[in-house]
Amino acid sequence: MAKNIDGKKIAEETKLEIAKLVSKRKSDGLPPPGLATVLVGEDPASDVYVRMKQRACEEAGITAFDYRLPEDTNQTDLESLIDELNERKDVHGILVQLPLPKGLDEERVLKRVSLEKDVDGFHPENVGKLAQKGRTPLFVPATPSGVMVLLEHAGAELSGADAVVLGRSNIVGMPVALLLIERNATVTVCHSRTNDLAAKCREADVLIAAVGRPEMVRSDWVKPGAIVIDVGVNRVEDSTKKRGYRLVGDVAFDEVKEIAGAITPVPGGVGPMTIAMLLKNTVRAAELSDN
Ligand code: NDP
Repeated sequence: MAKNIDGKKIAEETKLEIAKLVSKRKSDGLPPPGLATVLVGEDPASDVYVRMKQRACEEAGITAFDYRLPEDTNQTDLESLIDELNERKDVHGILVQLPLPKGLDEERVLKRVSLEKDVDGFHPENVGKLAQKGRTPLFVPATPSGVMVLLEHAGAELSGADAVVLGRSNIVGMPVALLLIERNATVTVCHSRTNDLAAKCREADVLIAAVGRPEMVRSDWVKPGAIVIDVGVNRVEDSTKKRGYRLVGDVAFDEVKEIAGAITPVPGGVGPMTIAMLLKNTVRAAELSDN
């Protein structure tokens, strides 16, 4: 039976450490870290994510600035807001919630965020440095760094390990793969055109699933003893639940836990870590601005 990697508990511990750092800043007479969230449009899932991030900020003593723009906001107005936030001394981190409504140029928006305030780690220069050997980005995206912390807690020996990453998105799959390479794992990145996914996955000492397909990874895809990190968050209908659905990951948890060495649950695995790592990046951004 696999060890449960308790992301919720690890995230709580991380958030407590962050709260201590923030309170020390305040007692040293330094300003509290400030995070500005920018949400364009009314996507309900994005709204939930932004509110969760703001609540976590407040609990840690970080000031949350909430910017909401209508669905029909144009590129110029969005970029002007970012320019304004780049200038503000009380805003240390800027998070533009993705995806942006159609018609807005995501790449231009992400590039506009000042490098020192790019707490999401999506500025092309930060991403570029992540992809280069021997370079260090100022910020690493939150979900991938959360994955790395969970691997560390699971005791994963990454150097020389065979790792398989399912998914190659800019926000999860690709940066996770780059971070694993940096830690000397040998990485196979799989996607929707990959042949015989199951066989590829069975080779993995470390398996990261980030595809957004409910319970796609079955027990016969997993090498006995492998460490499995499930990034997926999927809604499946469930009439026994008041809200009519439940959340499942990309991994069939109940069967894979019988085979794997360690596994993250959904919910309670990667999700809470993502928020904790965002807070950590925000404190770091505040520290950078002190100098
Ligand atoms: P994307 O949709 O951007 O990317 C999905 C990736 O999976 C793509 O690379 C795609 O391949 C690949 N893929 C899709 N279907 C298959 C398939 N049947 N077989 C093999 N590969 C497939 O998703 P994200 O990376 O943004 O998110 C992935 C999951 O992680 C989602 O469930 C999302 O909700 C969750 N998530 C969770 C977070 C957390 O904090 N817990 C944070 C962010 C995301 P191709 O490139 O060929 O299209």
